[in-house]
Amino acid sequence: MDKKFKSSCNYCGAEVDEISQRTEQKVTTIYDCKKCRANYCDQCSYVKEDTSDVQLCLRCDSIMEKIS
Ligand SMILES: [Zn+2]
Ligand SMILES: [Zn+2]
Repeated sequence: MDKKFKSSCNYCGAEVDEISQRTEQKVTTIYDCKKCRANYCDQCSYVKEDTSDVQLCLRCDSIMEKIS
């Protein structure tokens, strides 16, 4: 058993350093949406143009926390 927990995106299934099937881009970060209680990668979320440091959930538009 692999003891190290690896978080993966609940939307496209990719982990960090894997290619997201959604955008075919490399996933660099996984975020946690408290509202959806799910993890999403940087490809399955978006950044508002005026607040580039804030990553938003694609589903519910709430601010997500970086977890890996
Ligand atoms: Zn994803
Ligand atoms: Zn959400």
